[in-house]
Amino acid sequence: MNFESLSLSKTMLRSIEAVGYHEPTPIQEQTIPHVLKGRDVVGCAQTGTGKTAAFALPTLQRLMETANRPTTGAGQRRKRSRRRVIRSLILSPTRELAAQIGESLVTYGTFTGLKYTVIFGGVKQHAQVKALNSGVDILVATPGRLLDLIGQGFVHLDNVEILILDEADQMLDMGFIQDLHKIVADVPAERQTLMFSATMPPEIRKLARQWLRRPAEVQATPDASTAEFVSQEVFYVERKEKQKVLTQFLMGQDRKKTLVFSRTKRGADRIARRLLRDGIHAVSIHGDKSQAKRKSVMKLFGSRKPPVLVATDLAARGLDFSGISHVINYDLPNTPEIYVHRIGRTARAGASGKAITFCASDERLQLRQIERLTGEPVPVKKVPILSQELRAMTRQAEPIEPDQVQNQEPGEGKKTAGQGGDGGSGKKNSHRNMKSRRGSGAGSSKRSKRRKNTKRSGKKIKAVKRTAAAS
Ligand code: AMP
Repeated sequence: MNFESLSLSKTMLRSIEAVGYHEPTPIQEQTIPHVLKGRDVVGCAQTGTGKTAAFALPTLQRLMETANRPTTGAGQRRKRSRRRVIRSLILSPTRELAAQIGESLVTYGTFTGLKYTVIFGGVKQHAQVKALNSGVDILVATPGRLLDLIGQGFVHLDNVEILILDEADQMLDMGFIQDLHKIVADVPAERQTLMFSATMPPEIRKLARQWLRRPAEVQATPDASTAEFVSQEVFYVERKEKQKVLTQFLMGQDRKKTLVFSRTKRGADRIARRLLRDGIHAVSIHGDKSQAKRKSVMKLFGSRKPPVLVATDLAARGLDFSGISHVINYDLPNTPEIYVHRIGRTARAGASGKAITFCASDERLQLRQIERLTGEPVPVKKVPILSQELRAMTRQAEPIEPDQVQNQEPGEGKKTAGQGGDGGSGKKNSHRNMKSRRGSGAGSSKRSKRRKNTKRSGKKIKAVKRTAAAS
């Protein structure tokens, strides 16, 4: 199948050629013809499958074709004012995804002459209002900021012809359901609606029935097929051992980019903090970070020396980073579909990747659900064993996080971890820490000496953090 056979216009084919795509991905192959015929579409597709082009290419083409279609009422009056009016609205759960869709529109819409803008919260609205006032054909928005600007009279949706809901399941997870109802009520009933979701829980199907008319159903891959080139492994490791095992694992791996998934925002911060403490350059990303911070983290992760990125599912949604060699599920996700989504972050565009899951005894049920969904068992691997050095290092750092003081060793181990990747600084750090640990051990009866040593190692840890942050 090639793009020519999908009834795309010359303009769109020109953009496709310019961006260098040779053939449509399965979701594009299935979606584009329906959208071009004006049908509603509900699609089960994850980020990374070419979903954005699947809806953007035919939307751009239809907007070019319907440029002169008459509208009614207030919309017609607005249209007569000769300023561009919003004819397509694309809703996204996160700022990152919204920004990425915006970038894709620049790419796919190069030769269309259509204008678009992206609006999202967490930044001042002035520039967004200015862009809206200059007139746009396509608006990409997160629900909260959109409602804000509708309320202030800066956005009018009465000319929307094509409504697109991207990552619909995520919008529900983020509690946007009421906002979505308000927004959809503001869009003309006479419209084309496309809805995409990585998973298809019953709530999404219910909304599809409510908002879409006899939609064509498309699916990028079988519901739970795992990425073809991802090799998967599971370590049975108890929660209190996970951090140590993570450090051990990362030090012993030849990695490019590593994405670690945490179930909670606090957890993501804590994991990154402790990796830094162990001498591994790491940063966290989640919904509580400011927009500027998230941008700088993403830039760092895209750099030649990327830190380990510790993310929540929401924050990672929509991020399209190439070259992720390792995905680590520090916590098992709540739903098995999210596992599929997570591991699909690696092994993109035919590259090979590795997905490692840390499964505690109280998470085994979730693991079984994943295996049921994917139809294949995840091979169990022996937990990497902590070396003497690393044990000393992680134990030494305990005063920083008293809630996680560990008395148990995970290891029936004999093997010493390799010192690949970030291991250099970690090794250095561990030597120092071992020294100060010996100091404190010798003085078990001399409390003041121990306190001094703890303080000193705290300073060293800060120094390591500064070095890591600077690198
Ligand atoms: P998406 O799922 O829309 O986030 O797209 C994931 C990645 O696939 C992006 O980097 C796109 O540029 C790329 N992509 C989309 N469609 C194609 C295609 N037909 N051929 C090659 N790459 C594509």
